Order: sequence, then C-alpha cells, then structure tokens
Amino acid sequence: MTSPGDPDVLVPPPARAAILAWYAEAARPLAFRRTGDPYAVLVSELMAQQTQAVRAAEAWTTWIARWPTPAELASAPVADVLRAWAGLGYNRRAVALRRAAQVIVAEHGGRVPDDVAALEALPGVGPYTARAVAAIAFGRAVGAVDTNVRRVLGRVAAGGADALAPRDLQALADAVVPADAAGPWTHALMDVGALLCAPQAPRCGECPAATWCRHAAGERPDAHGSRRAGRAGQAVPFPLTRRWLRGRVLDLARAAPDGAWVAYAEPIGTHAASAVREAVLLLASEGLLDAREGSDGVEARLPG
Ligand code: SF4
Repeated sequence: MTSPGDPDVLVPPPARAAILAWYAEAARPLAFRRTGDPYAVLVSELMAQQTQAVRAAEAWTTWIARWPTPAELASAPVADVLRAWAGLGYNRRAVALRRAAQVIVAEHGGRVPDDVAALEALPGVGPYTARAVAAIAFGRAVGAVDTNVRRVLGRVAAGGADALAPRDLQALADAVVPADAAGPWTHALMDVGALLCAPQAPRCGECPAATWCRHAAGERPDAHGSRRAGRAGQAVPFPLTRRWLRGRVLDLARAAPDGAWVAYAEPIGTHAASAVREAVLLLASEGLLDAREGSDGVEARLPG
C-alpha cells in the first residue's frame, strides 16, 4: 500500500475545484438533496446505504411526508416502519432508524445531534453515515468514506481503490473537504463514484478529476490479482443467498393483513423449509418479526 502524503499533492486544490464545478452542473436531481433538515438527511443517508439512490429517493419522499420528525417516527408501530421500508432491503436499517429516532427524542431533545461522535452513537449509524450527516446537514469539514468515495479518492490519490490504508484514506478524505462546501463536496464525490468512476470501466474521459488522477494516468496498484477481484468472479447468485431469503420472508409478512400470522412451512425458491424456518427465527431474534410455533411449523407476523 502507498504511504500517506500531502493532501494538497494527492488531491490538489484545482482537482477539488473541478469536482465541485462539475457537480454544480451535473448533480443528480435526487429529492433528498433539496433538504438541509438534519433528520431528513439522516433518513436519506440510512436509506441510501446499499440501496440505489434513485429508489431511496422515492421511499424517502413518502417516509418524510408520513413521519416528518424524529418524534413522529419514534412512536410509529414497527410494522408500519417495516412496510414503509419495503423494496429498500437490509430491513434491520428500518428498525435501527426508528430506534435512532427514539434516542434522538430521549437524549437530544428531539433534534439530531451535530457532531460526529454523538451521531455515531445513534443506533444504525456508522462512521460513514455520521460523517455524511455532519457534513451535509451541519457543514462540518469531515470526509464521509463509502465504497464509491474510497474508489474515487484512492484512484485519484494513489492509483487504486485499495491503494491507501483505510486510516490514511480517512485522513485524506477529512483533509480535502472544502471548509465552505462540505455538503456539496460530499454529494459531489458520491456522484463521481456513482456516475463516472465505475469499478470496472471508469469514464475517465468525462471525469473532472482526470487531469490529476493517478489511475487515469496509468498507475494501477490494485489492478492484478487482488483478493477482491477473485471473490467477485465467484459471486453467488443473489436468489441463493440468505439475504435474498430474508427479504422474501419479510415480504410475505408485509403482504399479510395487519396482525395476521403467516405460516412458513414450505420452501422458498431454492431454500429448503428448514432454511426458511431458520431465517424466520433469526429475523424474530432481531426484532423484525414476531414468531410462534403453529400446527404446521413456525408462523410469523410483523411486530405490533
Ligand atoms: S479519472 Fe477515472 S479513475 Fe480517476 S476518479 Fe475520474 S473516473 Fe475515476
């Protein structure tokens, strides 16, 4: 891995200005970018983790109309929250967001805290989300590093997504945030990563950072034989995964009338009945379902 260096050399100020100028022209018109309300930003960032931004934006609009404040979300039934999360995947995020709203009400007077440490202490909020909210909602000069941002900054500064150690990449990300444009900068890096700097075929010819980018200049420290590439080549088809099964189990519970128990005695897709039962019990242990033993096996419903 490359040693850390001077941020002004790794991502020079003209590169930052070019990225911001590009963003001012090419920003994706996502609904949640029109708000600076910290709670609305927090919801959008939790929804957009591991979910396509366009799909998250649709769900966000409905969510904010229904629960416009942490207090309203904090008192919402878990079943309603899980139904509103349908289609976004990783359903634990929905329950965590509701718990975060409860903590915001109980410990922060109903207002989203404005510093990274307090944000990171909220349920479901990790280092990336805490920094994204701090930068976007409160203008803090902190760098939010997700997969896209790691790829962009790693490639520009050192030629590859994994060319810098995580701690060095975080330090670089923090150092290059423009003090007067933390929010736009955070969105801009996300958009460069999502729209241009694709993992396999980056569109360097259209990229505002190309002039300063070591990857575009031919430095490719992670181009050959990395473990990451090897694993990606043997990816398991999604319907065979436990994550897919968990999603289908929850979809069946969502589709049932309020309070009705659903029997899970049959296989789902290629997953045997025993695997379905295991998924139901695991979801119940995480608070995403209520489960009980029925005459034909395990039954479940959304929590009340
Ligand atoms: S120039 Fe290419 S590799 Fe570098 S950040 Fe832009 S799209 Fe990514």
